[in-house]
Amino acid sequence: MRPENLTKLKITVLAGGVGGAKMIQGIVNTIEPSRVTTIVNTGDDTILHGLCISPDLDTVTYTLAGMIDREKGWGLADESWTVMHTLEELKGETWFRLGDKDIALHMFRTNMLSKGATLSEVASTLCAHFGITTHVLPMSNDPIKTVLTLAETGEEIGFQEYFVHLSHAVPVSRIRYAGIEDATAAPGVIKAITSADVIIISPSNPFLSILPILSIPDISILLPPPVYQAMAPDQHHKSCNPADKQHINPEIRAKTVAVSPIIAGKALKGPADRLLNEMGIKPTAAGVASIYRDIASVFIIDDEDVALKEEIEDMGMKCLATNTIMHDVESSRNLAIEAIKAAIQA
Ligand code: GDP
Ligand code: CA
Repeated sequence: MRPENLTKLKITVLAGGVGGAKMIQGIVNTIEPSRVTTIVNTGDDTILHGLCISPDLDTVTYTLAGMIDREKGWGLADESWTVMHTLEELKGETWFRLGDKDIALHMFRTNMLSKGATLSEVASTLCAHFGITTHVLPMSNDPIKTVLTLAETGEEIGFQEYFVHLSHAVPVSRIRYAGIEDATAAPGVIKAITSADVIIISPSNPFLSILPILSIPDISILLPPPVYQAMAPDQHHKSCNPADKQHINPEIRAKTVAVSPIIAGKALKGPADRLLNEMGIKPTAAGVASIYRDIASVFIIDDEDVALKEEIEDMGMKCLATNTIMHDVESSRNLAIEAIKAAIQA
């Protein structure tokens, strides 16, 4: 299929922050943006200085608005830091960096939420403000918090404490998504999954960005996640069934393609490689493929990993090797075209 014939497809993307946002940027440069829906992880959401912060939603929104700081991968370009500097002088908590304009957005969100709006409503208000026609949906409007257990002390800590404050430089023995058993998918999420022509699982962090989305009970019926011992399923997790063969949804699997965030055994950014290892999975593209084998029919790896193709195809997935490093919009777009074409042909 020629790229111009792809534009009318309906695409749904599962995304975390940076890896997800770069993937979405490529997709909306290929497909009419209003035909694209992105379901975004909210397990990283936190409250700091009394402000409700949704880092992955903001990374996706700022990227689609063309305002992201590409160098850092998060926050706004052309930011100023007056509030942080003043907070430093006060010896306040400054480990989570918030630019001035970014703070205004968190104030806006916090105010809307305090008046009873949902996170979905905040997301769509912000998209309208920035002229974004892509549908940006939080995975859920219910509070879900990714929490991690430190291997060395057994202490359980919040996501931002791990990711930002401790620079994810500490081994983890357990990950869970607190609140998930009582959560439901946000409005539009289920329809976006069932009605899409193609579902793309971004090269986001599997344990920190994608599995929280898949583990929401009503999403897990359609896209059942595997359950790992290190995710310690307990009585609270009964609603999240492991992907035993009965739960595979062949129709959805056929249209789902996943992209590896691991290239040559390394994450391009962040702790994905170490976390895979800590969760008992090989930190390779094939290890990531094993997570998605029951929900995706196509798995995309980087050219550098072409030697893993057979191992992945033995898992029952079609495997495509291509350039998966998205260093600019053009490379994101090329990857998006490859992913969409591969899903349609599957
Ligand atoms: P976060 O929420 O900002 O941490 O971002 P995500 O979970 O969406 O994405 C993090 C993952 O994206 C990391 O594991 C990276 O290896 C991966 N990643 C980032 N940029 C790229 C890229 O250009 N290509 C691929 N294949 N993976 C990428
Ligand atoms: Ca994130």
